[in-house]
Amino acid sequence: MQTSVIGFPRVGALRELKFASEKYFRKEITTEELKDTAKSLRSTHWLKQKEAGIDYISSNDFSYYDIMLDTAVIFGIVPKRYKKLGLSELDTYFAMARGYQGAMGDVKALAMKKWFNTNYHYIVPEVEDDMQITLSGNKLWDEYTEAKEFGIETKPVVIGAYTLLKLCRYTGEKTVRDFEVAVIHAYQELIKKCEEYEIAWIQFDEPALVLDMNQEELELFHRLYDGILPVKDKCSILLQTYFGDVRDVYQDLIKMPFDGIGLDFVEGKETYHLIENHGFPKDKLLFAGLVNGKNIWKNHYKDTLQILDVLKEKGIQTVLSTSCSLLHVPYTMENETVLSQEYLSHFAFAHEKLTELKELKQLAQCSDYSTDETYKNNEKLFAEKRNCKNEDVKERLSQVTEKDYIRLPKRSERQKLQKKALGIPELPTTTIGSFPQTKDVKANRTAYRKGEISKEEYEAFNKKKIAECIKWQEEIGLDVLVHGEYERNDMVEYFGEALGGFLFTEKAWVQSYGTRCVKPPIIWGDVYREKPITVEWSVFAQSQTEKQVKGMLTGPVTILNWSFPREDISIKESISQIALAIRDEVLDLEKNGIRIIQIDEAALREKLPLRKSDWYCEYLDFAIPAFRLTHSGVKPETQIHTHMCYSEFTDIIPAIDNMDADVITFEASRSDLQILDSLKENHFETEVGPGVYDIHSPRVPSVEEIVKALNVMLSKIDRDKLWVNPDCGLKTRDVPETKASLKNMVEAAKQIKENL
Ligand code: GLN
Ligand code: ZN
Repeated sequence: MQTSVIGFPRVGALRELKFASEKYFRKEITTEELKDTAKSLRSTHWLKQKEAGIDYISSNDFSYYDIMLDTAVIFGIVPKRYKKLGLSELDTYFAMARGYQGAMGDVKALAMKKWFNTNYHYIVPEVEDDMQITLSGNKLWDEYTEAKEFGIETKPVVIGAYTLLKLCRYTGEKTVRDFEVAVIHAYQELIKKCEEYEIAWIQFDEPALVLDMNQEELELFHRLYDGILPVKDKCSILLQTYFGDVRDVYQDLIKMPFDGIGLDFVEGKETYHLIENHGFPKDKLLFAGLVNGKNIWKNHYKDTLQILDVLKEKGIQTVLSTSCSLLHVPYTMENETVLSQEYLSHFAFAHEKLTELKELKQLAQCSDYSTDETYKNNEKLFAEKRNCKNEDVKERLSQVTEKDYIRLPKRSERQKLQKKALGIPELPTTTIGSFPQTKDVKANRTAYRKGEISKEEYEAFNKKKIAECIKWQEEIGLDVLVHGEYERNDMVEYFGEALGGFLFTEKAWVQSYGTRCVKPPIIWGDVYREKPITVEWSVFAQSQTEKQVKGMLTGPVTILNWSFPREDISIKESISQIALAIRDEVLDLEKNGIRIIQIDEAALREKLPLRKSDWYCEYLDFAIPAFRLTHSGVKPETQIHTHMCYSEFTDIIPAIDNMDADVITFEASRSDLQILDSLKENHFETEVGPGVYDIHSPRVPSVEEIVKALNVMLSKIDRDKLWVNPDCGLKTRDVPETKASLKNMVEAAKQIKENL
């Protein structure tokens, strides 16, 4: 049996690529220096996999920003406005990813979206009517050749034709259908060029096949591959899927001339049954995704080997693989110096997953693995009782009743009461919470963490920052203020660290988008709150101003979704535990005079099951009530806000309204305000602040631009329900651009109000 890895993380175990790229953006290093860092990371990653004896190692899984964007570039899908800047190849690429504002022009970045059900974000390629989709870039072959110089024969990976066409945005009159032929040719050219390089295997990633597929989509898939595949000769094609099962297209897939098919056995509930029911052809390789690419718990060898045994009995030629790219887990446990072995022994990050693949491969080849030491140790680990139970948590959860999920009186009445009580003007301006995390802010946290400064010094610094931040917001003229979140590294990690039941790591970074990485906490046991977490900061901030300051919390769904969840209890149970902990914090904030409380659910949309049929029963039916549980206990006059990143919730608007928040702010600027129509159609009741400018890019929006956006919003949203805010937190931005942008935002709101 052989082993395969779908893709490897690329930012580096110590986030080397992130730091190098950021230096490059600040013009502190040259293109060559950035490229050197990238090259050395690639070789490290290949060699690591080679060492572990991985048989199918990917290349072209490296990216300076995003692999979807890379695929677009390979096929020349570069909108004119970026080409016109006349920048170098690399800078044009970064202009698409991050926007560009400088001597050569002023363009926004392409839209960014969540990659299926992960916390990774891809760049949405834009296809223009007159675009020529043809093979353009060389990255794939350059990287293949580079690996070969290390004596490693890799399988280059690109996003497959179907997923690419499905995820692109078409900006003109034309649609997918109009580009089919060009795309078929482009992929044919790609295969031909791979043949010239004598590449043995190419991996086409087709995660879009795990979504619900209708007849039209099935036909599209067929037309694409019936067109592409005939050109292949010596080169073998692996059709790789992940994040679920391919129930709608399985029976077609196994009849098509792919040489290998990669299926996800971890998230693919039906994968095993599909093979049972419909068989798997003997002349193809099955790349069996059995090692979880998304979670950090060790693989239970017994379960995996049982499946491998069945596949073997069926005579299926199997390659043991990861369930998806290892991009979604951290690099290595080697740099974790604080967590004890008691915990670490249960985890496997990317490097350790390579070892799992290696061990499983060896065990699968044993005549009787049950007597093998490696196997026995793994069994012992899973038999062990973890110290993860808390009886009080269980008890409290059992006492929650239906009425704990309902806030009274109903929202329309609350809205009237709040308007009176809180003194908020029309078209109120606010921000999402965080302010720029400048060097000094980070240094203060690091120094405290390392024990270099006292708690008093640490807090004094933060309070000074908060006071400045409040003053700054007052000067700019914002209506509802925030404290700035200087004490937080990350909105989830911060709460994870403060709550019981979580473990946190030192270096377990996972890429979220571009150069941004997050360090998700690990939910180890039952979750509870020991003592107030945010109250002191919020109370201090409120003491600095007459205006309202929003308390700032992260909601249960997001905390769970951006953590590594337990695998021994249900997601529903974990979410409910966290909801009770956050409820305590909400009530404490209120008790201490905070009258507006924002509970961020940035990640609510992202864990929506990929298949519509699972949306309610497997997710929303408990995720939405969990949110209500956090705030149902507050007074009618206390205003509850929530914030969601990305406005792709057009089809779950009633569910969002059911969160029963008083106000929701969300990202809208990168998606052309499409959501506004749906809000109107659905008679959305919650007050809304669709972000008026994009904070994921350093670009400063002009007053006119914001006025224009607000006018569009006012044509769809009642005037007494509209809030004015950026589309997300400002922590990743620098001070000058933030000040300039917010000033323009407040000015725009003022101009609009004068005209009303
Ligand atoms: N309150 C958080 C912040 O402003 C929200 C961040 C987010 O939505 N990702 O940083
Ligand atoms: Zn956000």
